[in-house]
Amino acid sequence: MIKPAARMAELPPYLFLELDRLAEARRQLGRDVINLGVGDPDLPTPDYIVDAMMQAVKRPANHRYPNYLGGVSFRRSMAQWYHHRFGVELDPDREVVGLIGSKEGIAHLIWAMAGAGDLVLVPDPAYPVYATQATLAGAEAVTLALDPSRGFLPDLDAVDEAVWRQAKMLWLNYPNNPTGAIAPEAFLAEAVDRCRHYDVLLCHDNAYAEMTYDGYRAPSVLQIPGAKEIAVEFYSFSKPFNMTGWRVAAAVGAPVAIEALGLLKSHLDSGVFTAVQEAAIVALDTGGGSEAGRVFERMNAIYAARRDLVVDGLSAAGLDISRPLATFYLWFRTPGKMTSAAASKFFLEQADTVVTPGRAYGAHGEGWLRIALTESEERLQSAVERMAAAVKMHPVGS
Ligand SMILES: *Cc1c(COP(=O)(O)O)cnc(C)c1O
Repeated sequence: MIKPAARMAELPPYLFLELDRLAEARRQLGRDVINLGVGDPDLPTPDYIVDAMMQAVKRPANHRYPNYLGGVSFRRSMAQWYHHRFGVELDPDREVVGLIGSKEGIAHLIWAMAGAGDLVLVPDPAYPVYATQATLAGAEAVTLALDPSRGFLPDLDAVDEAVWRQAKMLWLNYPNNPTGAIAPEAFLAEAVDRCRHYDVLLCHDNAYAEMTYDGYRAPSVLQIPGAKEIAVEFYSFSKPFNMTGWRVAAAVGAPVAIEALGLLKSHLDSGVFTAVQEAAIVALDTGGGSEAGRVFERMNAIYAARRDLVVDGLSAAGLDISRPLATFYLWFRTPGKMTSAAASKFFLEQADTVVTPGRAYGAHGEGWLRIALTESEERLQSAVERMAAAVKMHPVGS
């Protein structure tokens, strides 16, 4: 009998599978299901980027293999953007590598930096890729709890000295998926300090850097003095420019990690379609970044209005939900102490609304739910009304 490799048994079962099956079953019954489960922007990529792509795709030179590590002009453009946006200076040759989306780079950086006998420090709850790839690569994922009483920041003092010494990487992600939390620069500075002390690579997933509200501006970890030698940051075009389908991002920072990731990638893939790289350059550079700034402003106004609508509606219904300063996620307690799986099933069956069970992001996500604000205000209003009615009609466990 043909069997997959033994390491595949270490991949956890797909937690969304049961939920998807239930949602599909309700659709088959003719129900109008509102999906607030997926963190994928519902609005299109801005026209000026699509137009640049349409020109780029016509150029025969772009039909050949791309530069494996991202073309010089793409890497230069990323460096200019980091200067303009964060005041961070990057060497495009040694401190920038192009990625086929952050997810690809995150997974491969783990393979490039950690293996058997190594520890990888990962937050819990978190984007699942950090822990699953660490395990798959033969390393051990050590979870750092993200507790609401600490603003969903891990307690670095609670990590044993022996664990710090054996650790190769620390993963952080602020603004945070799934909690919507942000990190004060003082916390990032503490993480940089600790990682410098123990020779741990600090890996910062900055996928939501541009998705912020109420005047808040998210920093780059590389702004912290001394960070650049020990930290790598992932900057993705997916969420800020509604480009999830295009697959383009960059890893920037510590040359030792950028070089290892680039070497591994040169043996694995052949880079990002050059036309997509050209469109990404236009996305950042048009008018010295002013077009990009306008895109973020427009998108953030839309998400902030959606956020307020849902937070106000669900709070009024008695749910324990706060107003995040960043990301398009709302992270809130399940009603009546239900498990997250039970609550997710409850809202699907009683409100025809898909909300993600917190448990999908780790053990510390138990008792929580996540909503993605990736539907129109009209649809969100319906979802809120249905959820409020469900909670009112079935006061669970209270
Ligand atoms: C969406 C997301 C990513 C994936 O970004 P891509 O560049 O599309 O691969 C990475 N990290 C987090 C936390 C995300 O939510």
